[in-house]
This record gives sequence, structure tokens and C-alpha cells, in this order.
Amino acid sequence: MARVAIDLEETVEDPGLTDFSVAGSNASGDFRCADCGYGAVVQQVLPPCPMCQGTVWERREPRAAHSD
Ligand SMILES: [Zn+2]
Repeated sequence: MARVAIDLEETVEDPGLTDFSVAGSNASGDFRCADCGYGAVVQQVLPPCPMCQGTVWERREPRAAHSD
């Protein structure tokens, strides 16, 4: 099974959906594999998931990390 959805670079219309990025994209921050949930901190370029080889990452926004 190697079905890969790449149609995720379009702007997400539904404000309730999380931001997704694909491996190879320039990105930095906290990401989580959309497939297996593996968490990774990305510095420059999103890698394929080391756990499941997935290529779709879900951005984890650092909001609500600390309330003031
Ligand atoms: Zn994964």
C-alpha cells in the first residue's frame, strides 16, 4: 500500500482543518505524521516519516502551550 495523497498543498478552506505539509517541503517547527502520529521537530525540510515512510505531516501549532 503506497497510496500517497499530494493534493494537500492547496489552501485549506475549512478553518477547522489542520495544516498539512508533504515531505520535501520547506518547513520548520513541530510536525506530526498524519499516518502514524509520529512527532518530529523539523528545522528546514520535511523528511519522510522514519516510522511509516509517510509523506504527509500535520503541523502542530504551538498555541495554547502557555496561557498568560
Ligand atoms: Zn508515520
